[in-house]
Amino acid sequence: MPPTIAVLPGDGIGPEVTRAAVRVLRAVRPDLDCVETRVGAAALRAGEPALPDAARALCDRSDAVLFGSVGLPEYEAKPMAERPEYALFLLRRDYELYANVRPVRVFAGLESASSLLPELVRGLDLVVIRELTGGIYYGRPKEQRTGPDGVEEAVDTMFYRAPEIERIARVAFELARKRRKHVTSVDKQNILETSRLWRRVVERVALEYPGVTLAHMLVDNAAMQLVRRPRDFDVILTENMFGDILSDEAAILTGSVGNLPSASLGTRAHFGLYEPIGGTAPDIAGKGIANPTAAILSAAMLLRHSLDDDANASRIEAAVERVFASGARTAELARGGEPALDTLAFLQRVLAQL
Ligand code: NAD
Repeated sequence: MPPTIAVLPGDGIGPEVTRAAVRVLRAVRPDLDCVETRVGAAALRAGEPALPDAARALCDRSDAVLFGSVGLPEYEAKPMAERPEYALFLLRRDYELYANVRPVRVFAGLESASSLLPELVRGLDLVVIRELTGGIYYGRPKEQRTGPDGVEEAVDTMFYRAPEIERIARVAFELARKRRKHVTSVDKQNILETSRLWRRVVERVALEYPGVTLAHMLVDNAAMQLVRRPRDFDVILTENMFGDILSDEAAILTGSVGNLPSASLGTRAHFGLYEPIGGTAPDIAGKGIANPTAAILSAAMLLRHSLDDDANASRIEAAVERVFASGARTAELARGGEPALDTLAFLQRVLAQL
């Protein structure tokens, strides 16, 4: 049986970039059974929940999920369960996708698109490992309410148990072992109890990896060091909310969130959800100008992690590198009058390189 890939393009630019990525996947692996279905606002508009049963059933029988993005401004005021983003929340929770892997690389030739000086980002290559199913995004109680004195109040709860920290730390150390062998664990241990536990558990796990060095950094300092000396980082290990924020900061060092792929891996062996780190980009949706790089590189990560196909993953990554090295730019990356390619033209360059 050929491997099945659940393709969930979602909303906004999601379908534009995801379909580009599927064309790249099909070019290198024509044997894959890529099956598309709607989630997010696309499903809500059809009178279905954000994650329809059909989408869940498709994910259940698939080897991996290629995801676009979900969420549109008109749903912002709705309660969580009626928002497009609920689809992603459920997928992460129900498949226990606890490890979010976000490689951040500056491609040769793209240094000038960065928000930092080219000499600070040239050759930048780091990975953020973000815990994805715990912390303040999932802890209970989590509610808005009226206090006993009639005043409006709200509570979110940051909660971690040692095994959750242990397993995400292992992902970081395993990866560091194959890279430059350095983990920076980011926390806020001067204030947060969860961070004190985090630090203790990470230190325990580090003992199992004598070849990997470990440094701890407070999250406020990490935010600063990321824009000061980003190349000093190899693997950044952090909890859910800190990782959410730091990985977007790291992303913009590359010039665009549209460049950054991610993998969300969990407890089901080889299964994973692969998606651009950016959102639905309502400001450019429908114009056909979105950068498909993040989606294409997410497909490469899918091949590597879920299908054990390192060769084709590397082929796709090398093709994208050559396209950028040749001077090709999508609109948000073009600087000083550089000509910009639309999504389709960029895709065609990648396909030509393959
Ligand atoms: P966003 O990432 O959608 O957009 C931020 C900026 O980056 C915009 O200017 C956008 O045009 C640009 N951008 C993003 N991806 C791009 C690409 N591929 N090519 C070119 N430019 C790109 O973030 P936002 O505006 O904060 O969020 C918009 C919606 O997306 C919200 O509803 C949010 O909830 C949702 N969202 C979804 C996900 C997800 O599905 N994983 C992630 C983040 C945000």
